[in-house]
Amino acid sequence: MAQAYCFAGPPGVGKRATAVALAQAVNCLAPVRALADADSPDACGACRACTRIAAGQHPDVSLIVPEEKTVISIEQIRDLTARASLRAYEGSVKVWILDPAHEMQEPAANAFLKTLEEPPAASLFILLTTTFSALLPTIRSRCQEVRFTALSEEHVRTILTRHGRTPEEAAAAAALGGGSAERALAVDVGEFHATRLRLAEEVWGAVRSLPALLDRAERLAKDKAGLETALETLLVFTRDAAVARLGVPDTPLLPGERRAEVERIIGNAPLAAILRVYAAQRTARHALASHAQPRFTAERMLLKMREAVTGSEAET
Ligand SMILES: [Zn+2]
Repeated sequence: MAQAYCFAGPPGVGKRATAVALAQAVNCLAPVRALADADSPDACGACRACTRIAAGQHPDVSLIVPEEKTVISIEQIRDLTARASLRAYEGSVKVWILDPAHEMQEPAANAFLKTLEEPPAASLFILLTTTFSALLPTIRSRCQEVRFTALSEEHVRTILTRHGRTPEEAAAAAALGGGSAERALAVDVGEFHATRLRLAEEVWGAVRSLPALLDRAERLAKDKAGLETALETLLVFTRDAAVARLGVPDTPLLPGERRAEVERIIGNAPLAAILRVYAAQRTARHALASHAQPRFTAERMLLKMREAVTGSEAET
């Protein structure tokens, strides 16, 4: 282990969570070997030390954040230096997490540098930053840099569902999050509904004309992940449409104001047509998951939707 690390990477990808996990790993009272081939044991996550660290209540693990949301001040660093020279209260290693480390003013950074030059025994410094180059070169050279990158959309989706989002909301928010769980979690659900309506309106509008349909298929299929997200979104809308058509009174699933929007978009399509649309969208989702070609999948789905919608209009 180095005595100082710098976790550098975009916001919302788990730098602080990883720093906390590392603090637990070095202070855990009952380390476990999670993987047989792991070269060092991991934190148990359940002992007194692990739970207190997770709760931010461990006396030997300190999170240094900017005061009044501006900068990490020299007073904060002096306090850190004074405390770092004392023995650990109960843990074996004192851990300092500076987040974001680039918010140290120059005097603070210089004071911190002195501590890094002669680090007290059994101490560990973890600097978090979005911009490694924003740290003083002298600080950079004393830290082991660990690069963090954007998360995959699938990973963000998993995190969001763990935070109680529905699969559809998670898919849409993950697509908008650009690889950051933090940003995806901040996605406005109202905004999400607006996006859903816009997409549904465009797609339902396009199926009534063949040239518009082909154009829409091309746009939808521009990238596979985008099409997957669009399908999730459309499936939610179609479910709403079925609920509206069934005449179920206001439900949390479909409050009154959204019902009117849904009805405006689907026109007078009967329930049978809506269910066929739903089937077409589910088939498309399945095909895409089975590596069907996106453009072909989108066209096929829209043609099926067209059949369902215009067929029912011809009957009436
Ligand atoms: Zn533990």
